[in-house]
Amino acid sequence: MPEGHSVQRTADELNKLFKNKPVQVDSPQGRFASEAKLITGKKIIRVRAIGKQLFIDFENKLTCRVHLGIYGKWRFVPKNKEETLTGAVRVRFYDSENIADLRGPTVCEVIDTKSVKLIERRLGPDPTNPDPKKLQLAKFVDRVLSSKSSIGLLLMNQDVISGIGNVYRAEILFRAGISPHVLGNQLTQGQVVALWEDSVRLMKVGVKTGFMITREELLTKKPKKADRNYVYKREGLGCLRCSGTVVIELMATRKLYWCPGCQR
Ligand SMILES: [Zn+2]
Repeated sequence: MPEGHSVQRTADELNKLFKNKPVQVDSPQGRFASEAKLITGKKIIRVRAIGKQLFIDFENKLTCRVHLGIYGKWRFVPKNKEETLTGAVRVRFYDSENIADLRGPTVCEVIDTKSVKLIERRLGPDPTNPDPKKLQLAKFVDRVLSSKSSIGLLLMNQDVISGIGNVYRAEILFRAGISPHVLGNQLTQGQVVALWEDSVRLMKVGVKTGFMITREELLTKKPKKADRNYVYKREGLGCLRCSGTVVIELMATRKLYWCPGCQR
């Protein structure tokens, strides 16, 4: 499943291609045909990502909300390369120059402003979005410090923070030297603020490069996949910071990677 940085990259791409332009919308596969009629030919005002969800706002106050889930995929091609597109396309957005095809999403629906607001209110703050007044940061700190769940679970809870998945969860905790088993209400405010600020920093690298690079000395480089992270998928190997070994365990059915030597 994509983590938030890749949804943000999709939003950037869609804005680049279609923002402030009328787009045609149809459903080659048919499952989105009636919804497509509500937005086709309308101008896209903007495309936003919050965590793993994408919101495409149209001029007629309707929004197309997309959550890719595990199997969903976007594909972008210039209109003159249309013949290279294959497979079951749930939704096609296009104008005279470009095509964006969406396949296999878990959620794809057209909703009104009121429903958008309800969903936005529920979603946790997203570290990839601008936060000039630090309201998002405050929300995150408040939700963590008031919780009796472990921080390992809280970072994967989309009500607490949006867009973090298994890779960033493991890496952010390692970088902070915090055990995934510490409870939210056992952390200090300083620790929680630092977790947020590190998420902002790492995900910015992710949005820019498309890769989840988390090793400090490699943040500005283009490392191979196996070299990008400290603990993710490195179970049984020596820790890069201490003489211990990286371990794996299951936390709420998801694989959790961490170093008991570094993370207390
Ligand atoms: Zn270690």
